[in-house]
Amino acid sequence: MQFDSDYRMLIGGKLETGSASFDVLNPANEQIIGQAPDATPEDLDRAVAAARAAFPAWSALPIEKRREYLNAMAQAILANIDPLKRLLTSEQGKPHADAEADVGGAAFWLMGASSLDLPVVVNEDSDERYSETRRVPLGVVGAIAPWNFPMILAAFKIGPGLLAGNTMVLKPSPFTPLTTLKLGEIIKDILPAGVLNIISGGDNLGPWMTSHPDIDKVSFTGSTATGKKVMQSASATLKRVTLELGGNDPAIVMPDVDVEKVAEQLFWAAFGNNGQICIATKRMYVHKDIYEPLRDAIVAYAKTVKIGDGSEQGTRLGPINNRPQYERVLDLIRDAKEKGYTFLMGGEKSDVPGYFIPVTILDNPPEDSRIVQEEQFGPVLPLLKFDDYDDVVARANATEYGLGGSIWGNDEDKAFEIAKRIQSGTVWVNEVQHLSPTAAFGGMKQSGLGVEGGEEGLLEYTNAQTLVRKKRTAAAA
Ligand code: NAD
Repeated sequence: MQFDSDYRMLIGGKLETGSASFDVLNPANEQIIGQAPDATPEDLDRAVAAARAAFPAWSALPIEKRREYLNAMAQAILANIDPLKRLLTSEQGKPHADAEADVGGAAFWLMGASSLDLPVVVNEDSDERYSETRRVPLGVVGAIAPWNFPMILAAFKIGPGLLAGNTMVLKPSPFTPLTTLKLGEIIKDILPAGVLNIISGGDNLGPWMTSHPDIDKVSFTGSTATGKKVMQSASATLKRVTLELGGNDPAIVMPDVDVEKVAEQLFWAAFGNNGQICIATKRMYVHKDIYEPLRDAIVAYAKTVKIGDGSEQGTRLGPINNRPQYERVLDLIRDAKEKGYTFLMGGEKSDVPGYFIPVTILDNPPEDSRIVQEEQFGPVLPLLKFDDYDDVVARANATEYGLGGSIWGNDEDKAFEIAKRIQSGTVWVNEVQHLSPTAAFGGMKQSGLGVEGGEEGLLEYTNAQTLVRKKRTAAAA
């Protein structure tokens, strides 16, 4: 099956072309692959009004019914996984296998979220009174997604947001709107009109959403800098916000690891999705006793990885998704070169068309270098040497970020103890990037506010409402 090349917004259950459009490029060759509608403020108003109109009936449904809708959406995504993955590769750049994981992950997430439940807490049930706290939906949610995982990160919001009884207006990144717009076509006849609206647009659309008077909550995934603007803008109407932001995740590799075995895992921890993962390993601290052999093993493995157009057989790493990000990564590489740091591989710009940057690994640059301190969000990794655990924990925590991190070692108990000392929302031992729709995921410090996933994530789409009933028997006494 193949999709047609018309991309339309979903507003109030109808597909709309919009009055203007913008070009979407394939980052592997910089060719235009489609035009996405460029929503106007009036389009946004209509999408919000449609979501508002759908809210009473949707929120009144028994939660079991909303579960069924989420599962039906998941099945529809799976039935279209092939064309969705091809389209995603062409606009995002990631290889087909990774695109399939992004699309399939979205379906998995909707199913997983649908297994959650809204709790009712009985605060008091005495002779005098009964008191309970239940959870009620907020209303209309504005969901804003980034370009690195367009499908799964949208599902992070759609699943719990709709399950809790809210309706939604979803905006994909202008760099990757097409797959999300096709998702709208796929679910158009599955969900009641207006429950999920999908609109695309340029740089103004996000700020219009965060300042919209009739949106009750903004769920945002993107950079820390933009997250701060979202929070500021949302404060005018006291919108609830969930902010999933940037990271600079450390990995700490203990000396008792099996060097040959972990080298490949550590490579992918840093370079999966071309480093464009919020929870990619962005600084790798390796114990001095194994630094040289592990460094050499990672570099040897890296040389076997094929970089290219994600639609070509055998490609493991695609291009950077977009020109601004490409320029940011090149700027960090340029800075590292100017400072004279040692490159183990990479560091050159590719001559081919497209936003390609070769895998770039640096040998123990200074702790205060930009390449260590900043979120690179690209295929560039500094390897760093450590000797003492107190020292490496202090270095790992010396950042404004606190999203993820990982500890690698055969002594799992010791690794677990070190994990507890890392100031991040999630810390893994001997793996990385494992997330679950039933576990809380979020950032400490400037990596975010609130969580997604698990019951805690679901509750962020609700208000607590406490109901108190004085008992007649008590009043009479
Ligand atoms: P970005 O902040 O540039 O954009 C994210 C989204 O916000 C896009 O849809 C964009 O159009 C929109 N936007 C831009 N300006 C806005 C504004 N002023 N108000 C409202 N919306 C606005 O981020 P990006 O470059 O798309 O994504 C990369 C960043 O996202 C990285 O920092 C990465 O770490 C982070 N990220 C975090 C998580 C997480 O779960 N914590 C997951 C993925 C990516």
